[in-house]
Amino acid sequence: MNTEHRIVILGAGYTGMLTAVRLARRTRKLNVRITIVNPSARFTERLRMHQIAAGQNLAEHRIADILTGTGVEFVQGWVTSLDPAAQHVVVDDTVTLPYDELVYALGSSTDTSIVPGAADHAWTLNDPRTAHQFSERLNVIAAHGGSVAVCGGGLTGIEAATEIAEANPGLRVTLISTGEPGAMMGDKARAYLRRALDRLGVARQVGQAVTKVLPDAVELADGALVPADLTLWTTGVCVSPLAAQAGIATDARGLIIVDATLKSLSHPTIHAVGDAAAVRMDWGQLHGTCQSGMPTAAYTADVIARQLRGKPLRPFRFGYFHQPVSLGRKDAVIQFTKYDETPRRFYLAGRVAAIYKESVSKSPLPVFRLSKKMAVSVTPSKGGRATA
Ligand SMILES: Cc1cc2nc3c(=O)[nH]c(=O)nc-3n(C[C@H](O)[C@H](O)[C@H](O)COP(=O)(O)OP(=O)(O)OC[C@H]3O[C@@H](n4cnc5c(N)ncnc54)[C@H](O)[C@@H]3O)c2cc1C
Repeated sequence: MNTEHRIVILGAGYTGMLTAVRLARRTRKLNVRITIVNPSARFTERLRMHQIAAGQNLAEHRIADILTGTGVEFVQGWVTSLDPAAQHVVVDDTVTLPYDELVYALGSSTDTSIVPGAADHAWTLNDPRTAHQFSERLNVIAAHGGSVAVCGGGLTGIEAATEIAEANPGLRVTLISTGEPGAMMGDKARAYLRRALDRLGVARQVGQAVTKVLPDAVELADGALVPADLTLWTTGVCVSPLAAQAGIATDARGLIIVDATLKSLSHPTIHAVGDAAAVRMDWGQLHGTCQSGMPTAAYTADVIARQLRGKPLRPFRFGYFHQPVSLGRKDAVIQFTKYDETPRRFYLAGRVAAIYKESVSKSPLPVFRLSKKMAVSVTPSKGGRATA
């Protein structure tokens, strides 16, 4: 390679960071320049947003520190546009970054546009600042035994409701969901989950959609009101509009449609990873998890390095392995799954599960560190292959 190959990575979340450090290692003998762009100088541990919302102070990790020794350049800013024809991105409407290859790792956030009032009156776990502000409001209402509604009975909603209830025993916490909380788990894990919710005093409103979020309540489909001094919205997913605006092929939600090697179907110099990629496997589509995102990042770093060396590419392989759910700081339930996320018989619960879950939550940072020295395996199950 005589000319420098410019690789720009958008987003320094779990998948952008892993792509960057692994790619730097894999291409250290090649003439490449890797740049990563992110609005915050701090690395956001999104897996722990519910802990911040419940009032915990977490360790801070600077992106520049994580990248030390890799040669990856960090640009702090917000990507405001992307031009695949000119092969450049624009940061903060001012700085233009040309690229030869782009890694799109902009993640996802919770969609508050789907129900009237949610954008105005509900809080989200989308970023640490909002989660921290929520925790401050929580302190105020907890002083007089107020009420919190957590909308969404998926894993994030369960983690948030239990964390908040454990930290604030005087609060009335209600988990609202259309389906049974943890419906994707097996019978025994779900039974454990119900007992844990009961133990923590988390009330449930199950079977009805939320139709409106009001300043002090949540309205359900039958017109009933669930009183809520604070509402936390954890359901529905939206992604950055950048890709769709740039004319890159996306699905109905704006996720980049990729081929079996995770390159954009419409623009093969663009790789998509993590929550922002629509990855179709031979058994179904991936959904936004760190568990699946980290393997897409490791794979993409390897793909770029292999391409630069003129080596053949094999399709992305991945299978789910577990659904780990914290239930406060001292309890958790881990449902082990088949590659397609159907539950296996085996599950873990209680203290040992809490230790397991904590080891999962803290694993990305050591993986980044180790990836500077070696290619760390982040794919425990390779149960299926991506399709175009
Ligand atoms: C409370 C909570 C608990 C979770 N628990 C689990 C779990 O136990 N297991 C699991 O597998 N998954 C879990 N998830 C999901 C997991 O966090 C996501 O799947 C994961 O963060 C996706 O990684 P990512 O790199 O694709 O996106 P992110 O980690 O969201 O990173 C995206 C990055 O892009 C940046 N960005 C966005 N737009 C722009 C822009 N225009 N310009 C520049 N930068 C931009 C963002 O600031 C961010 O830094 C949880 C999520 C939440 C909220």
